[in-house]
Amino acid sequence: MENATEQEGIVEKENQENMTGKIVRVSGPLVQADGMRNAQMYEMVKVSDKKLLGEIIELNGDIASIQVYEDTTGIGPGEDVYRTKQTMFVMLAPGLLESTYDGIQRPLKLLEEKSGNHFITRGIEVAGVDLEKKWDFQPIVKIGDTVEEGDILGEVQETTLVMHKIMTPQAICGIVKEIKSGKFNVEETIAVIETKDGAKKEIQMLQRWPIRKPRLSKGKIFPDTPMVTGTRSIDSFFPIAKGGAGCIPGPFGAGKTVTQQSIAKYCDAQVIVYVGCGERGNEMTEVLNEFPHLLDPNTGEPLMKRTILIANTSNMPVAAREASVYTGITIAEYYRDMGYSVALMADSTSRWAEAMREISGRMEEMPGEEGYPAYLSSKTAEFYERAGRVNCLGSDRRTGALTVIGAVSPPGGDLSEPVSQATLRVTKCFWGLDGALAYKKHFPSINWLTSYSLYVDNFKIYWKEQIADDFAEIRIEAMTLLQQEAKLTEIVRLVGMEALSNEEKLVLEIAKSIREDFLFQNAFDKEDAYTPLDIQYRILKAIVTVYRESISLMKKEDFDFNTFRKSETIQKLKTLKNLKTQEEFDAFRKKTREDISAFNLETSTN
Ligand code: ADP
Repeated sequence: MENATEQEGIVEKENQENMTGKIVRVSGPLVQADGMRNAQMYEMVKVSDKKLLGEIIELNGDIASIQVYEDTTGIGPGEDVYRTKQTMFVMLAPGLLESTYDGIQRPLKLLEEKSGNHFITRGIEVAGVDLEKKWDFQPIVKIGDTVEEGDILGEVQETTLVMHKIMTPQAICGIVKEIKSGKFNVEETIAVIETKDGAKKEIQMLQRWPIRKPRLSKGKIFPDTPMVTGTRSIDSFFPIAKGGAGCIPGPFGAGKTVTQQSIAKYCDAQVIVYVGCGERGNEMTEVLNEFPHLLDPNTGEPLMKRTILIANTSNMPVAAREASVYTGITIAEYYRDMGYSVALMADSTSRWAEAMREISGRMEEMPGEEGYPAYLSSKTAEFYERAGRVNCLGSDRRTGALTVIGAVSPPGGDLSEPVSQATLRVTKCFWGLDGALAYKKHFPSINWLTSYSLYVDNFKIYWKEQIADDFAEIRIEAMTLLQQEAKLTEIVRLVGMEALSNEEKLVLEIAKSIREDFLFQNAFDKEDAYTPLDIQYRILKAIVTVYRESISLMKKEDFDFNTFRKSETIQKLKTLKNLKTQEEFDAFRKKTREDISAFNLETSTN
């Protein structure tokens, strides 16, 4: 017995000795320390007596390379590094929604309060969720019930929009021995589960999860439902699935941020996680100022009630950007696991990749293309692969979806650069923003000729059942007209408008209407910013109807196209956006048919 205690004492002493290391080198956000033989990869450490938060990203014998998430100015060799024996984790519990965090899940408001000014003092520790606040926990299971990992034990009304499900933590299954009801903070025990081996596990609402490890599910399933964003060119032409992955590449000023924000505001996901990766400081300020005042068009409630913002503050070093996308996606997966449809926007992932490049450079790793580390592609793929529609853990067969949309800002808009290429390989939706369109003030500047969505075939049944039998057909017809327009424009540029037949002139006229009356959408106009999918279909169908009805007119000899172009039939296409109901659209199409047959008669009698 004595021996055993002695043994434990030795182990304890050894552990104590291994709990600190000494800094041997500091290079910006990268710190190397020795005496770290027993440390783990991705373990969190506190650097120097200032207790700066860092994460071990490489272990080489006794030396650990640590990515530090705070400014390392004034830190030098010889100072201590303290191990925590924990990997970088996020706190998952009620209270996440409506929060604004920095890249390592510290609530910005609390940081500011603790720092006492707008510049965040180093080494501040604040919990990711309020540990004092009492939440009203309503149990779902009863004493004696058998539960498995992922089963929902009870619920908390986190905000007016989201019911937070408290799930049985991973790797725990057994019989409910105790289940409480009432007001508790996130660290109080709300249930006791007896596992197979007789251990009694106390369960709290708070769970911790390592940010670099995808949360578990029972596997991915086919994403068959589109995520409706209200942006017409996305939903009708290049739709993304609930559980899909998409990217928005575009040069500076093409509208990446506005598009991302517009999706975050209006899309029909139940929870939104918006990660601002330090594109430009004032952009995130816009988000921080604007979001709290926005209302959800689907419910009329404040948007923040379903939103979590992650902002990389400008005085945090690049390493924090690297962590922020993982913090964001882990929180997003947590809500997915409750059975919700979640959307994560990352703006911009190029900054994330640049952070990777900087750290890799400082670690003197062999650089790959354009100085990015050779693992850029695999890291990017790992990140986007966390998107998906899944069967959640638990016995109730619920499904959840996590949609990931990343903006990419290739320097000079050149898509052949490594970050764009790595992203294109793993995302199935490509909304290519076009600098030339943005210059012409055509917004969103999604280029209809180069963009694509590989999800289109997934939605055939959804469109048929929810929108209309001919939605797929109408959108293809409209897109074909735009492609024809591109070819014809080339001819016009070479030989002039006169070379075109009336049929070709009609294609140009209708394509112009598709561009101007359908695709053009002002994200800052309250009425225009969001169009429900059924209205999108009706507008598009009305435009295509004009084309279909008038094509036979064009075959007439001596047909005066100019008069036709100025006729009401064409002119009133501009008013389509103002129509709202099925009746109004039906009336529009009926009137179009009448006008065109009248036109037909007129030209026949002439
Ligand atoms: P990026 O993030 O690609 O650098 P932004 O998203 O900041 O570009 O967009 C630049 C500007 O373009 C915005 O300030 C806005 O004036 C305009 N813009 C972009 N998208 C739209 C849109 N959908 N509707 C209206 N204006 C837009």
